[in-house]
Amino acid sequence: MNNTLALLGGPAVIRKPIKSFNTIGDEELASVTEVMRSGVLSAYIGARGEAFMGGPRVRAFEKQAAEQFGVKHAIAVNSWTSGLIAAIGAIGLEPGDEVITTPWTMVATATAILHFNGIPVFADVDPETFNIDPACVENLIGPRTRAIVAVDIFGQSADMAALREISTRHGIKLLSDTAQAPGATTQDGKSTGTLADIGGFSLNYHKHIHCGEGGILVTNDDRYARRLQLIRNHAEAVIDTNDPEELSNMLGYNFRMGEIEAAIASEQLKKLGANIAGRQRAVKQFNAGLASLKGLKTPKVAPGNTHVYYIYGMTCDFASLGVTRTRVIEALRAEGVPGLISGYQNIHLIPMFRNRIAYGTQGFPWTSPYASRDITYAPGLCPVAEKLHNETFLGINICLNDYGPADVALVVEAFHKVWSQLGALQATAA
Ligand SMILES: *Cc1c(COP(=O)(O)O)cnc(C)c1O
Repeated sequence: MNNTLALLGGPAVIRKPIKSFNTIGDEELASVTEVMRSGVLSAYIGARGEAFMGGPRVRAFEKQAAEQFGVKHAIAVNSWTSGLIAAIGAIGLEPGDEVITTPWTMVATATAILHFNGIPVFADVDPETFNIDPACVENLIGPRTRAIVAVDIFGQSADMAALREISTRHGIKLLSDTAQAPGATTQDGKSTGTLADIGGFSLNYHKHIHCGEGGILVTNDDRYARRLQLIRNHAEAVIDTNDPEELSNMLGYNFRMGEIEAAIASEQLKKLGANIAGRQRAVKQFNAGLASLKGLKTPKVAPGNTHVYYIYGMTCDFASLGVTRTRVIEALRAEGVPGLISGYQNIHLIPMFRNRIAYGTQGFPWTSPYASRDITYAPGLCPVAEKLHNETFLGINICLNDYGPADVALVVEAFHKVWSQLGALQATAA
């Protein structure tokens, strides 16, 4: 058998691409056809009346989602980015208020805060779960801290018990971005997202379930539900109060989901359980296959959590292997392993935060009179997240492919092959 690495001219382990993930089937086709035949592709009206809450498909989807996630209110929106913006508005953020979140997320978590002129403050992450570290959150709380936005990164819940304790003690709100963990559970089987004051999920093409673009907000709070529904649909046109607290942040957005998207999302929601079970099966096989590899740590599931594996997130002590992460990834890619990711994110270090340029060029809101202290962003702010990103994190984007047992076996074989040839990899490094 020729064990030469594909990177060095040998035959690749995976020679046929692993099937792409696709959950759109006859069920979605049938429900979309029905909507098309009805001629009503969106029934929203931005004025007072029943149609303010959307059409029949949107409402049916919301009812179904509320039941499935075990929450009082589910509110459909046209993207989870819209959902995050609505959530920040709904809690009544004031300009200059600080909101603590994680640098390991997609930018929308942090920019949603800026949309209402709040100031994002980044807390470091846990080195094993990659979720926001409650101890770091505690250290960052100041007189103007108004909320925490936890992110259930890669498919498992952040430590909501610890975060809730902190939020209660300091009288601040707790939100959650559960874009990557729909259907995961925590704390006695409760759905991720529902333990926050407001949480929610993304329905974009790259997530577990999708309708092209979409999102769903969840909350058990009646007042927040009403404010979210208002912000979704041009609140200022219909809101009937003079109370400044209720009028605040009721700006003219259109975050409405269409009937076609809602019809697709309803079918997708029914498939979530099977989708998760498939990923968990593949991960069991990945874990068993990769556990023995030197320096490599397979994903940790925190006690009390179930994990739905948006990304299969590992760490590796590459220094102990004597080769760089870049070199190992090159070798794995050459063997045909799909979806490999080296670091993840360090949102606090992207140019807009480093330079504090959001609205205009003058540093608003950070340098405005609304800000109560000087919040800056620089390397060293989140050392755990930075080390993971720069050196030790290795992930597989397992949401991209439909992994059967034979596919996982090949990926595992490719890892073993690369690990058996570390010497050759080192000797040939540029
Ligand atoms: C995908 C994602 C979002 C944004 O969701 P969209 O529906 O694409 O707007 C926000 N946060 C996280 C963590 C995500 O993964």
